[in-house]
Amino acid sequence: MIVKLLRRVFRRGESPVSSASAVIPLARHGIHREHVSSGARRTCETLQKAGFKAYVVGGAVRDLIAGIEPKDYDIATDATPEQVRSLFRRSRIIGRRFQIVHVMQGGETLEVSTFRAAHDADTAKDAHGRVLRDNVFGSMAEDAARRDFTVNALYYDPTRETVIDYHHGVADLKQKTLRMIGEPRARYREDPVRMLRAVRLSAKLGLALDPALRAPIREMATLMENVPAARLFDEMLKLLFSGHAVECLKRLRDDGLHHGLLPLLDVILEQPLGEKFVMLSLASTDARVKAGKSVSPGYLFATLLWHEVLANWELRKARGEVSIPALYEAMDEVLDIQAEKLAITRRIAGDIKDIWALQPRFEKRAGKAPYRLLELPRFRAGFDFLVLRAESGELDHELADWWLDFQNADPERREAMLVPDSGPKKRRRRSRAKKPFDGNASVAADD
Ligand code: ATP
Ligand code: MG
Repeated sequence: MIVKLLRRVFRRGESPVSSASAVIPLARHGIHREHVSSGARRTCETLQKAGFKAYVVGGAVRDLIAGIEPKDYDIATDATPEQVRSLFRRSRIIGRRFQIVHVMQGGETLEVSTFRAAHDADTAKDAHGRVLRDNVFGSMAEDAARRDFTVNALYYDPTRETVIDYHHGVADLKQKTLRMIGEPRARYREDPVRMLRAVRLSAKLGLALDPALRAPIREMATLMENVPAARLFDEMLKLLFSGHAVECLKRLRDDGLHHGLLPLLDVILEQPLGEKFVMLSLASTDARVKAGKSVSPGYLFATLLWHEVLANWELRKARGEVSIPALYEAMDEVLDIQAEKLAITRRIAGDIKDIWALQPRFEKRAGKAPYRLLELPRFRAGFDFLVLRAESGELDHELADWWLDFQNADPERREAMLVPDSGPKKRRRRSRAKKPFDGNASVAADD
């Protein structure tokens, strides 16, 4: 305990990293204090009035300089979490290993972190060099050095309207280059997720990857295997819901990074049949994110993995398994494979299965079945999924069109639209689903 404390105090005094920083004036960075959210401004002011350093840091500064509205604001300070907590009535300390403080200002939540120290020989790492703990307070220069990319190590002071730049991040941003702080190989070993972050941020900001940052990715991609699944899942969600998923995947493919980086990416990028379907789905997700509409992970993952399910289902049917039970088996097997590497939460897995299980039920257009389907809470997601299948050429559009009409029709017309069970089916199937679905279809996912 005492050793730790001494080390902490000691570290505060001497900095093993260069503390040379540039102060960038307003004329060069262009961020007026009014551009910053009022909550972030007030939080910095309160901390500064109490004698502490306080800056808006990271993605928000980067985005503001690039002319993008920040999603949220992080604040970095030399005040300890307890000191921060005592200055804001509406605040709470979160996290056990490295505490940060959530400060509530109006409807905003600001994440306030105390400057962290750079890693050194004492830092706990796994056998591959991945940093396990990152929880020692440090100087501002150290805090800058432990961030990933130069454009992410910018500190904006809303009072003085200056940006403190330790690693030439402003110049890199203006030159549209994503550059790693420090030696890229070492930084990927510390945290392999930085490879995915590099791709995502370069797509979001339209930055070129600096060759030194890009070169080691292909050979180091296997390090991703040691990253805890829950963390990978979070990063995948960030990538897929960045509003730039299509561009991210294009960059991954162009860089030859899609092999082995993540099993899900292999699935997404290497399925010839499903590619159109997946790309349509990602493009519509991008459009929804950009328009500020809600997006559901369950729906997106259902689309990303659908052709895996179809292929697995076909195999089972070819082996003589009964259609609907075979579909359920296929769904479970595909999800199990993904879950091993990607911690798809149980809730999301449930959403995914609901959407898949609804698909055969759209084939039933006789009797009470279509009315029951219409009443299900998941109908809308299932229907959107059906439309996407039609748009990708997997199904004839006629079925999706029928369901669109049926939803909008009055009761009389609905009755007239019903397709008699025994009669010849109007829809034309493509080779994927040759057999009509059996009666079990109507008991699928009725909850
Ligand atoms: P966005 O919020 O647009 O997704 P971001 O860069 O703000 O991007 P966050 O995950 O919010 O990403 O991280 C905030 C900041 O924390 C980053 O700008 C960076 O300075 C630092 N950071 C995040 N992840 C890492 C990492 N893996 N290694 C080093 N620094 C990191
Ligand atoms: Mg952020």
